[in-house]
Amino acid sequence: MQAEIITIGDEILIGQILDTNSAYIAKALNKIGVSVYQITSVQDDKAHILKALKEAESNADVVIITGGLGPTKDDITKRTLAEYFQDTLVIDNAVLKHVEGIFAKYSSNPISQLNINQALVPSKASVLHNEYGTAPGMWMDHEGTVFVSLPGVPFEMKALIDTEVIPRIQKKFKCPFIMHKTYLTYGLGESALAERIEAWEDALPQFIKLAYLPNLGKVRLRLSAKGFNKEEIVAEMDKQEQLLMPQIKDIFMGIEGFEETVEEQIGKTLTLLGQTLATAESCTGGKIAEQITAHAGASEFFKGSVVSYATQAKIDVLKISEALIAEHHVVSAAVAEAMATHVLGMFNTDYAIATTGNAGPSKVTDTEEVGTVYIAIASKTGVYSEKFNLGNLRIKVVNKAVDKALEMLQK
Ligand code: ATP
Ligand code: MG
Repeated sequence: MQAEIITIGDEILIGQILDTNSAYIAKALNKIGVSVYQITSVQDDKAHILKALKEAESNADVVIITGGLGPTKDDITKRTLAEYFQDTLVIDNAVLKHVEGIFAKYSSNPISQLNINQALVPSKASVLHNEYGTAPGMWMDHEGTVFVSLPGVPFEMKALIDTEVIPRIQKKFKCPFIMHKTYLTYGLGESALAERIEAWEDALPQFIKLAYLPNLGKVRLRLSAKGFNKEEIVAEMDKQEQLLMPQIKDIFMGIEGFEETVEEQIGKTLTLLGQTLATAESCTGGKIAEQITAHAGASEFFKGSVVSYATQAKIDVLKISEALIAEHHVVSAAVAEAMATHVLGMFNTDYAIATTGNAGPSKVTDTEEVGTVYIAIASKTGVYSEKFNLGNLRIKVVNKAVDKALEMLQK
């Protein structure tokens, strides 16, 4: 059982966007035991698309295509597919209704012929409903090979892969069941760990594979099983886990996929305690707030943020005294602490985080090197700060500062 992926779009070939669709689809297919034979990206060009379709048909049982389903002239996937299958395009009434519905709800313009054309599909295709857009997905059986055409917009494509394409592939083809489980360990090197669990590893059944994934003092142990009997696999993986656990008890940190991010842990703790948080961000530009509010439930504990990037904004909005800045410099422990204290008061929270630093590439002050960041944590009982040097690459400095700030708060 083999699949092939074709992504269509000039923007991929000129390097304007990264083809992330292929990675998502390949991962989803691998999860259900379908291996991907080849990934091809082609321009919005009829001859190139036809050539790619022909080659894919000779390689694969399933060909998944994304992109080029838009209403404009440059999107030619649908017409090209119809030509490839020697089929004609016909209006699908359900899709037309859906497109009209989207226009009635979200657009102030009247629906145009181009939009109506979104409801055209090859007559032999079955339609995959695209809840989030006007371009329908299409599933076509052609002489033993399945062709699936999906919109290029990543979130539309993802929804169709998850809800329509994967279940249909599983129904049509006999796919093996695949299960991975990864155990995080810390404090024992790869070879010492391998020696310790050697007897267990040697006794693993044939269909379970073990991989060691070492990284900076941590070793991840990944158990993978593949087969057609799901119940047997689940039971055996459970049994092996029971046997492994007592042997790694002292170094076991958790099971991958179930660990929480620092900001989730902070969120849980603050929510539980009924406490609140605010941030005042200079060099991190609001990224701490962004990371915190990316999780549902942040409104329970997060009150707000002031992005005071310019020195004047620190003075005007956060009421940091000009004298303090003149005395210590804007990148200093004193300013970070003052920012945290002021924002704590402004939002009347239990905790506040503040950052001020020099992310580079050029120096903003004479006193501090590029990469110097001061992070302060204020609470109702006091304030403290730490100085970090986070390197000389702007994006790294900012991202590391966000991590450090969250780690400091967690403590
Ligand atoms: P629509 O009906 O919305 O126009 P479409 O099928 O015509 O969808 P495209 O016009 O090819 O899709 O792409 C729409 C957008 O989706 C692109 O501008 C790009 O940002 C994104 N996109 C397309 N293909 C890919 C891809 N392979 N990986 C990541 N993003 C993609
Ligand atoms: Mg396009």
